[in-house]
Amino acid sequence: MILDGKKIATEIRGELRTQVEALKAADKRVPKLGIVIVGNNPASETYVNNKMKACAEVGIEAVKIAYPAEITEQTLLTEVHKLNNDPSIDGFIVQLPLPEHISETTILSAIDHRKDVDGLTPENVGRTVQGLPSIISATPRGIRELLARYNIQTEGKHVVVIGRSNIVGKPMAILLMQRPYLSLPGMSAASLGDATVTICHSKTRDLKSICLTADIIIVAAGSPNLLTAEMVREGATVIDVGINRIDDPTSPRGYRLVGDVDFEHVAPKAAYITPVPGGVGPMTIVSLLQNTLQAYQLKIEE
Ligand code: NAD
Repeated sequence: MILDGKKIATEIRGELRTQVEALKAADKRVPKLGIVIVGNNPASETYVNNKMKACAEVGIEAVKIAYPAEITEQTLLTEVHKLNNDPSIDGFIVQLPLPEHISETTILSAIDHRKDVDGLTPENVGRTVQGLPSIISATPRGIRELLARYNIQTEGKHVVVIGRSNIVGKPMAILLMQRPYLSLPGMSAASLGDATVTICHSKTRDLKSICLTADIIIVAAGSPNLLTAEMVREGATVIDVGINRIDDPTSPRGYRLVGDVDFEHVAPKAAYITPVPGGVGPMTIVSLLQNTLQAYQLKIEE
């Protein structure tokens, strides 16, 4: 069965729209998201435009704050502090990657964790690790929501996460192995967590044997066809996070997007599988919107 991230994300956007409309009807201001982009990386431009469009669809105000690639780290830090102190902004993100002369760690660490709607500050990550209420990184949040909405339980299951990045692999593994999490605003209260998690990465030996013991495999490696059919047991659930551009002269763009999974051969064995595109990607964007509403609500409650 296909886990239709596009459909679920549309449903969630509908729910968010209703929540934002209720705010308007009560004469309250709407949530506002800032999106910082540095330079003109075409992939980043596309991601930012998609995020702006998604905000508009649900009635969240979004402002794009663009800086030239030559901006210094110090100036960008000053801009981050301004956003931290701007009462009209509920949350903001800094689109990655940043130019090489700017440290992503320095910039991300400077974001006020209450406005960190990408959930990447050390404060939010630390709170997530400790099981405290936090803003969770958008992709793991989206994957958890997708599993919840298809009623796929994780308790006692063996989940193999391939990839150990700060934005996907690590937070995903933490969420899955935790005791069932506190229900957060806008999140399904499904009992996700309590899984036995194995994290694999580029130095892992015999990935195939490990994957064959998995009930659920989450692949976030950025490597096309990394997960093949002989690595997946019958009835496993497969979540493909990868987004890879591969040349395709038959496509008008000259390329097409594929994930990390050999979808054609893995899908017949899997009980559930996400497609690329249309699986995890739309869930990531809608999670950013949920995180923005969460930051707004926390601010109102302060
Ligand atoms: P990254 O590029 O920072 O790291 C990749 C990870 O995969 C590393 O930890 C590495 O050790 C591991 N890895 C690479 N090759 C491997 C191999 N052959 N065997 C085992 N492990 C291997 O990762 P990232 O930023 O998490 O991104 C991963 C992929 O997910 C990329 O394709 C990215 O574009 C995509 N992504 C998609 C979304 C989405 O919304 N769908 C969001 C974030 C990232």
